[in-house]
Amino acid sequence: MKFRELRADEIECRIGQIGKNGNGLSLLLYKTARCDMDLLDEVVGPENWQREHYECKGNLFCRVGINTNYNVPESVNWVYKSDCGSESNTEKEKGEASDSFKRACVNWGIGRELYTAPFIWVTDCKIENSKCHDKFVVSNISYKDSKITELTIKNEKTGNVVFEMNKISNNKKKEAVNDIICTKCGKPIMMLTGKDNKLYSAGEVAKLCKGMCKECYEVTKNERKNTVPKYIP
Ligand SMILES: [Zn+2]
Repeated sequence: MKFRELRADEIECRIGQIGKNGNGLSLLLYKTARCDMDLLDEVVGPENWQREHYECKGNLFCRVGINTNYNVPESVNWVYKSDCGSESNTEKEKGEASDSFKRACVNWGIGRELYTAPFIWVTDCKIENSKCHDKFVVSNISYKDSKITELTIKNEKTGNVVFEMNKISNNKKKEAVNDIICTKCGKPIMMLTGKDNKLYSAGEVAKLCKGMCKECYEVTKNERKNTVPKYIP
């Protein structure tokens, strides 16, 4: 059973931390409240999934059952996956219940790709007394092999793009990125997310790729491979 990756409108941005000097904030990506139910309905059908909440040692859990034989006529095979809610919610009970449901659905693979999100730092926003009332939305997202490869976030209040993956909204940092030029193609080296899901700054990319951008480094690597004499018996 494979659940598709989340669309931009199924993702919400919540503020993580606000910079001490009010110079920016970090954003975290979450699934919207409805998207788990929508995806379960879409993939297995409303009659082939169920949820149940229970308490265990003071924590609220959710168990999501799926009839994995949903496409086999007259056959039933219920499989269950559960998880607990986090206590850090403001509307405690309600928050914990929906949180445990969302987490149980991550165990089924729904929205797990959000864990591959880069660190999102936004400076184009209004911060007053360490609070920000702007609303941020994902306007574009794409994936490759269940990993986020493109991400654009807008400030809904101003309509401005405040974050683009591989680009930094902070102009100062943008200049710094542009300062590092690939020794082969002469284009600026961009920061990128590695296979390990870590975000590498332009400087780190340049270091790992011997002064080149990722693309040029890959090309020269293949060239080197091809020039290695083959062993002829
Ligand atoms: Zn290059």
